[in-house]
Amino acid sequence: MGPVDALERLSQDIVACRKCPRLVAYRKAVARGARARPGWTYWAKPVPGFGDPQARLLVVGLAPAAHGANRTGRMFTGDLPNGASVWLVRALYRAGFANQPTSLHREDGLHLLDAYLTAAVRCAPPQNRPLGEEFDACFPFLEREFRLLPRVRVVVALGQVAYHTVLRLYARLGVPLPRPRPPFTHGALYRFEGHVLGRSVPPVLCTFHPSRQNTNTGRLTERMLDRIFGRARQAAAYGEVPVGCVVAREGRIIARAHDRREGLGDPTAHAEILAIREAARFVGSWRLEGCTLAVTIEPCAMCAGAIVLARVARLVYGAPSPKSGAVRSLFRICEDPRLNHRVEVVPGVLAEEAARLLQAFFDDLRRLR
Ligand code: SF4
Ligand SMILES: [Zn+2]
Repeated sequence: MGPVDALERLSQDIVACRKCPRLVAYRKAVARGARARPGWTYWAKPVPGFGDPQARLLVVGLAPAAHGANRTGRMFTGDLPNGASVWLVRALYRAGFANQPTSLHREDGLHLLDAYLTAAVRCAPPQNRPLGEEFDACFPFLEREFRLLPRVRVVVALGQVAYHTVLRLYARLGVPLPRPRPPFTHGALYRFEGHVLGRSVPPVLCTFHPSRQNTNTGRLTERMLDRIFGRARQAAAYGEVPVGCVVAREGRIIARAHDRREGLGDPTAHAEILAIREAARFVGSWRLEGCTLAVTIEPCAMCAGAIVLARVARLVYGAPSPKSGAVRSLFRICEDPRLNHRVEVVPGVLAEEAARLLQAFFDDLRRLR
């Protein structure tokens, strides 16, 4: 069984679970209750994790919201008008981890990019407070899920309870944790020694939970959450060349990606290729006619070829790449009149910034070696 099938199998096991009698009764009572949203057939079952199986960012929350995920059946979805899902998905979108800023229902077109959302407990609990035995009962699902997400490079823990659940997971997987345990503090990024499941232990980044108690009172602001996911992105990309790529159509970004050769162990996982694939999924066709692809550095021969094959209308790039660039430096693949599609090329956009970014990355890497 491949990892995606195994995740699917895990989802089915989660959805069928009835281990906690109190929560089984509660999730159904909410669906029938006076506050239930009219016109909705509530999901009223456990909620599996959701996102990109190749994610480098894992977000761990507490539990589904009674009228959010317990209604819609997708993690962090539909907690309206101003619940945790609204804040979280908006922040993920701003940080480039989601293709849209809203999370309304299971068919709303939301794709997480490089991110996966899960929770310590899969059933909505009364007063948002699961009992100790309910955490214990649900914990094996988190462990199975973590084992099936081999690319995770950083974990964001939403709130104190999620943070302690992640530490419990690490302890269970044999990570030697310091004693006393480092305290939960908003903004703290904890790195741990050793390895877990054959990889370095993903650091844990703590944030206040984006629940109404925190967002309505100003304890957690959008800016604070943006900083968290900006740092998560840096931690996830640690060791990757900072090449970023977006594809836009009719003024709207439809795909984003960055270079993931190291993380995926895949020589073809250049930012442009990943972004083209994502855009084609979005459009529902391999033809990206009318699309603009923008990338920090001049594409290589493989990517320039893919840009032509995908019928991209326009290519915008930052710094030239004298040793491997195949758009102007070594070849002119995108404008070759012998090919049956030509791409409009706009070179040198923000070239200095792009070059500086790359230089800083290679300097850092040299220092670390
Ligand atoms: S909380 Fe977890 S263990 Fe308990 S019933 Fe729901 S899915 Fe099963
Ligand atoms: Zn390339």
